[in-house]
Amino acid sequence: MKPPPFKYHACRTIDEAVGILDSDPDGSKVLAGGQSLVPVLNLRLAAPDNLVDINSIEGLDYIRVQPDHVAIGAGTRQYIVERSDQLHSVLPVVREALSHVGHSQIRNRGTVVGSICHADPAAEMPAVFLTVGGEVTARSAAGTRTIGSDDFFESYLTTALEPNEIVTQVKFDIPSGRTGWYFEEVARRHGDFAILGVVALVSLEGDTVSRARITIFGGGATPLRMTVAEQLITGAKAGDIGGDLLERAASEASAAVRPTDDIHASADYRRHVAGLLTKRAITRSLERAGSPA
Ligand SMILES: Cc1cc2nc3c(=O)[nH]c(=O)nc-3n(C[C@H](O)[C@H](O)[C@H](O)COP(=O)(O)OP(=O)(O)OC[C@H]3O[C@@H](n4cnc5c(N)ncnc54)[C@H](O)[C@@H]3O)c2cc1C
Repeated sequence: MKPPPFKYHACRTIDEAVGILDSDPDGSKVLAGGQSLVPVLNLRLAAPDNLVDINSIEGLDYIRVQPDHVAIGAGTRQYIVERSDQLHSVLPVVREALSHVGHSQIRNRGTVVGSICHADPAAEMPAVFLTVGGEVTARSAAGTRTIGSDDFFESYLTTALEPNEIVTQVKFDIPSGRTGWYFEEVARRHGDFAILGVVALVSLEGDTVSRARITIFGGGATPLRMTVAEQLITGAKAGDIGGDLLERAASEASAAVRPTDDIHASADYRRHVAGLLTKRAITRSLERAGSPA
């Protein structure tokens, strides 16, 4: 199928792009890698009058690793982020998660920021953003603001962004101390969108859990933090986390997700998998946090 007609704007500066968005916010769409937007247009699920292409804007293609965060520009392709050894050394969960995003051809064009803005609830990058924490920087004709990861995802494919805003970068927080991580997704084939997945970071101070972040994706209209399961293990000694405590965390996760039936899996199956993946995420994250490597 072909997309409905639109006016194409190859913008050279952010000011030019936000100017077009501001003149017609509801009739304009930002075009980044196009790996989600173009299929949406071809299926005629959206019919914007203006496509605001940000690919020719200089200065949006970067990865900056700082002591407490990593900043990724809106032009940075997923495969560049996936291959960054510097980023990998501080946030290894990102490479693992990106390796599950579609296929290399998709990641060659798709951007990390575009994936977060698209906010597919079964996508990997929104779940990573919510788990590691951080913020996006949004520009509009009115100025610049930041939106924290906890406030960003509102509903299915819906974020806190206004239609006249462009995200110029995303910042991922780097966890401090001894932190273990885990990523796993269940999909019919590698590269498919997840039926259900988990991302976790668990930090230890001594042998006590000081911080836990566990996110399930594919289990509701947005990626979902498993806050009760997180609270259950926070403050517990790593050696005491097993048996009953893990079972309670799993059943809290199964209760916290809001899945629906679809052609890939039933809601009951997804609830069951949410519990299993939560248990595994806690166990493996603790192992990683406890090991010197
Ligand atoms: C066959 C196939 C398989 C795929 N499999 C997966 C998968 O398994 N997991 C997965 O996560 N994704 C998958 N994707 C989607 C892919 O990851 C996309 O690249 C990503 O979701 C969107 O990034 P993009 O840069 O292509 O954004 P675009 O498609 O250009 O834009 C997506 C949306 O975000 C908005 N947007 C983009 N950038 C900005 C910005 N800077 N500021 C404001 N709004 C912005 C656009 O207006 C649009 O609404 C798949 C795609 C295809 C075609």
